[in-house]
Amino acid sequence: MAILLDGKKTASELNETTRKRILKLKQCGIVPGLAVVIVGEDQASQRYVRNKHKLALKLGMNSVIKEVPASITEAQLLALITELNQDTTIQAILVQDPLPKHINEQRIMQSISSTKDVDGFTAVNVGQLYLNLTGNYPVACTPKGIMTLLEKYDIFLRGKKAVVIGRSAIVGKPMAALLVNAGASVSILHRYTTEIAEYTRDADLIISATGVLRLLGAEAVKPGAVIVDVGQNLDETGHLVGDVDFNAVKDKVAAITPVPGGVGPMTIATLMQQTVDLTEWGLANGK
Ligand code: NAD
Repeated sequence: MAILLDGKKTASELNETTRKRILKLKQCGIVPGLAVVIVGEDQASQRYVRNKHKLALKLGMNSVIKEVPASITEAQLLALITELNQDTTIQAILVQDPLPKHINEQRIMQSISSTKDVDGFTAVNVGQLYLNLTGNYPVACTPKGIMTLLEKYDIFLRGKKAVVIGRSAIVGKPMAALLVNAGASVSILHRYTTEIAEYTRDADLIISATGVLRLLGAEAVKPGAVIVDVGQNLDETGHLVGDVDFNAVKDKVAAITPVPGGVGPMTIATLMQQTVDLTEWGLANGK
């Protein structure tokens, strides 16, 4: 049986560190503030936002939820972001996906101040990641959380063959950039890739982020590979599962993230971590 890359445990350790950092800041009269904007009544989004809010409060942050109706105009939403950009009690802003069709998502994401862009979506922060600049900038929470998890389990990346399946701005692309920066050789696959297994069979590390149930089975993975499953799907019995057929591969690979309990908790813990990072970086810059 493969080693389970335990995101739940690693996230709770990270949260404990974050809680202590917040306590220290509070002793200096500073309370990190996270604002989450949710547009409309998508049930899954509401659940994610509630979970983030609960954890932020538990760790001692100032957590603000801005709930606005799906009928909001783009101009009104931009005005809300401007208000949050200027709010000195808020250090981190997250706009929950998805947004209604009449709103240009990129325009909204790019309007967030790069110094409050906790999900690392703005062109400035994406650019810093791609240039592998040293210094302080936020990175998309899911890929960054995955890097923390890989580090925790001493998964060596330099010179390894990595395959990232999915090319979204929120997971696939920043994941690939982080792995390249860490010295891995990376292939990025997506819906137009014709023979996925041709790449994955050769990979030391596979990160799957597609939302496609049972995308990868035992025949598609190399013995001893490391698998990180970002996907969130419901199987025929209504259970939450990933993209990878866990039971089929678990005895063949060296390590694998469970779903649930793998990447999910790392994403939210990283959100909290980066809210505190942004607070501290702001202080260092005299903001
Ligand atoms: P997305 O829909 O933006 O992107 C999906 C990607 O998968 C696309 O790049 C697409 O080209 C690729 N794809 C689709 N079908 C494919 C196929 N048959 N073969 C190869 N590639 C294919 O989704 P996303 O936001 O990047 O999320 C991906 C998955 O990860 C979803 O299941 C989502 O719920 C999950 N997710 C989990 C977390 C977490 O914290 N656990 C965070 C973000 C996303």
